[in-house]
Amino acid sequence: MTNTEQESWSRVKGRLRAEVGDDVYSSWFARMDLEALDDATVRLSVPTRFLKSWIQSHYSERVLAAWRAEQANVDRIELTVRTGVLRPLPTKPAATDPAPSRDIHNGRANGEMRALNAPASNAHEALGGSALDPRLTFDTFVVGRSNALAHAAAKQVATARRNDPVMFNPLYIHGGVGLGKTHLLQAITWAGNASGERKVLYLTAEKFMYGFVSALRSQTALAFKESLRGINVLVIDDLQFLQGKSTQAEFCHTLDALIDGGRQVVVASDRPPSDLESLDDRVRSRLAAGLAVEMSSFGEELRLEILKSRMAAARQHHPDFDVPMPVLIYIAKTVTHNGRDLEGALNRLLAHSKLTGQPVTLELAEREMRDLVRPQEPKRVKIEDIQRVVARQYNVSRADLLSSRRTANVVRPRQVAMYLAKTLTLRSLPEIGRRFGGRDHTTVLHAVRKIEGLVGNDTALAEEIEGLKRQLQD
Ligand code: ADP
Ligand code: MG
Repeated sequence: MTNTEQESWSRVKGRLRAEVGDDVYSSWFARMDLEALDDATVRLSVPTRFLKSWIQSHYSERVLAAWRAEQANVDRIELTVRTGVLRPLPTKPAATDPAPSRDIHNGRANGEMRALNAPASNAHEALGGSALDPRLTFDTFVVGRSNALAHAAAKQVATARRNDPVMFNPLYIHGGVGLGKTHLLQAITWAGNASGERKVLYLTAEKFMYGFVSALRSQTALAFKESLRGINVLVIDDLQFLQGKSTQAEFCHTLDALIDGGRQVVVASDRPPSDLESLDDRVRSRLAAGLAVEMSSFGEELRLEILKSRMAAARQHHPDFDVPMPVLIYIAKTVTHNGRDLEGALNRLLAHSKLTGQPVTLELAEREMRDLVRPQEPKRVKIEDIQRVVARQYNVSRADLLSSRRTANVVRPRQVAMYLAKTLTLRSLPEIGRRFGGRDHTTVLHAVRKIEGLVGNDTALAEEIEGLKRQLQD
């Protein structure tokens, strides 16, 4: 290897790094070496077969192009696995978690509680499986109207047998905070592993990314791939926390590999696949291609059932803790929406009763719950609802709104709908553009400005828009 060749190679690496970004570069290319440069053929090597096949299938064009920019006559890249340099796998991957698990913030991590045993625990170690809460099982999950579908799908996944065909892949569960997504995901994990039928690995998105990238950096890519192979069901929680474009791209390749390999993937997120704005279209469509189920806000009935079941559980440890039915009904009526607040409400009453020894009365509950009782949160408005309501108001079809037609009778309703989407939802302009037939964000911005300008002078239009807002928010 001449000095000039080495210098060319450094420039090629620089070009690759600039193109794919630091993260991807260090995951895939940092350990690639130049072996030889024979006329038109560049011989490169990497330490593992996994890296070789990954680079070949995902980056061969890029690598070739980077070389061509350096030396126009190059027409072939040969990639080999370096022999004899495969370092022994570290017995224990040096996994210090940089991001404390979210579960711990929620105060529910039970130390080293692990659901997986035997062969799966190797994978669990290598990937840094997230802690499981022993209380989050199907037994403690109360089924109601708002979560029945998600529950049924989760049950189906949990009870499928090893060789059953995969029915929905991925199963994608979404909904707001505290509505039971993590509960269902962990229930799947407990049930699957308890039956011994399939191995289920539960990971937060952060853990997944961390395990993935760090496994590659510590040269255990092969071990990582192997350990994933031993998993039948991969469960990923809080997908919305996947950060960084390039790491997401790598995450997606893995997802592809799992799904194509017939392994079940279950994902939870606080938003539907179409709203995961930072993921690219291909990934979003992959995620949406299985079954996406929404968990919606609890109704009062479900809140009461959850409270009753919580009470029953609490009384196993605190037999003299008693909350009369009227108090439970009061809590179910006033503490709205979310499972965490319900839990918090009962915990307060429990603490009070333990500390003072006084019986729990309605009066006490009213006093204690004061700050948990929030004014009704404004309803989350969906872009589809906006399109539907606007289409009906102006007597056009929803397809018209999404179409490229520019006749006046569609243009104005379309602008109104975009304006409402911007003002009633938290969606970004590019996201709104996508949801309106793949329009550019500048088009959306133009529509928003246009309507803002008009409502100032046109009281009829202003009233019309107020009416639409009311319809959507009630
Ligand atoms: P998410 O992951 O959707 O934010 P969690 O699964 O963490 O919500 O639920 C928050 C709390 O509410 C947990 O303590 C959970 O056990 C409880 N919870 C939510 N839904 C139910 C349900 N259907 N039955 C019993 N408990 C529930
Ligand atoms: Mg959760």
